[in-house]
Amino acid sequence: MSVQHYFLMTPGPLALRDEVKAQMQYDMGSRDQRFKNITASIRERIIDLIEGNDTHSAIPIQGSGTYGMEAALASFISQSDRPLVCINGIYGERILRILKLRGVQAVSINSPADQPLSVSDIASYLDQNPSLTHLCFVHCETTAGVINPLDAIVELARRRGIRTIIDAMSSFGSVDVSARRTCFDVLVTSSNKCIEGPPGVAFVIASLDILRSKGHSINSFVLDVRDQWRNFEQTGEWRSTPPTHVIQACAKALEMLTAEGVIRRGERYGLVRDEIVRAVGQYASPLLSAQARSPVCLALTAEGIINTQNDFDALYAHLITYNLCIYSKLHPQTRSFRIGCIGSIKPAWIFLLTMAFRDFFDKARGGKKPSTYFESEFTQRGL
Ligand SMILES: *Cc1c(COP(=O)(O)O)cnc(C)c1O
Repeated sequence: MSVQHYFLMTPGPLALRDEVKAQMQYDMGSRDQRFKNITASIRERIIDLIEGNDTHSAIPIQGSGTYGMEAALASFISQSDRPLVCINGIYGERILRILKLRGVQAVSINSPADQPLSVSDIASYLDQNPSLTHLCFVHCETTAGVINPLDAIVELARRRGIRTIIDAMSSFGSVDVSARRTCFDVLVTSSNKCIEGPPGVAFVIASLDILRSKGHSINSFVLDVRDQWRNFEQTGEWRSTPPTHVIQACAKALEMLTAEGVIRRGERYGLVRDEIVRAVGQYASPLLSAQARSPVCLALTAEGIINTQNDFDALYAHLITYNLCIYSKLHPQTRSFRIGCIGSIKPAWIFLLTMAFRDFFDKARGGKKPSTYFESEFTQRGL
């Protein structure tokens, strides 16, 4: 078997630290007390990170982030509810799609992917539609890397007695979220974004209030968050087989996140993002203004050269020959492609990225402008 170790610069999955990967070599029984302790420690750490000890509980769900999101939507929104989905990118659209698949009559408001959601637009929509029961949106919309105003939107909903269900997949762990400051009902994240764990487990963080509420009868076993929550509380066990190796690695990743701290992790990603802007700035421009950029991923455009998915496929394939793996899809509306800034990214990879971009774009432009970027610049900045 040939093994290829890529340099991942994608917004999840991401480059894992060796300490995290090392945890995946231990076999463990899923109903053994030691494994139950690991599960409990993960749940506690997540709640500690959001300061939700008295108000919230974390329920791990097997699968990728979308599985956690679908479980939350299925468990806390019934067919008689009227949710509003605020959309500014593909993950907001996915929330709407899941709700519709489940026969829920959801409504939506849309804004462009390169702008944060407008608090005043949402406020006036809520005022005009008093029968709404839930508000769903994405905290960091990874499509363009825009951070939406979490606190203000949750506050709008809370004042009107509307439940909030938030996709915080790519923000949790690098953007400060506090249950004390923001009274959200449900927030979903997954192991393989800013927690810097392997893919395979998502987390539904729900208020004790909504967990204890009666709820509707749900037509799914695996998506039933309340049932899994009760089971964790009573027995400490997962109902069906958990990804035991992934959970052990995720526990280590959460330990390292706690040690680094969310704010510092966000700053580290911000340094990587700014370094990438400097490194490839001659060839591609950031889609967002400097203030609007999240530290999670950087959306770039290269007008005249990268216009279609086909154009982008050529760049993607070129980067792979350098062992560099960036997100593989062009966003057609904004003609942007994205580079992840999260995970254990090494300065040398950014240097390699510069070389690869120079090679590709100089050829595409038919000229030979040398790069002004040198390795010494970023090693000095101490990334
Ligand atoms: C990554 C991501 C998801 C989940 O994607 P999966 O492929 O299911 O892990 C959902 N929402 C956002 C904002 C994301 O960044």
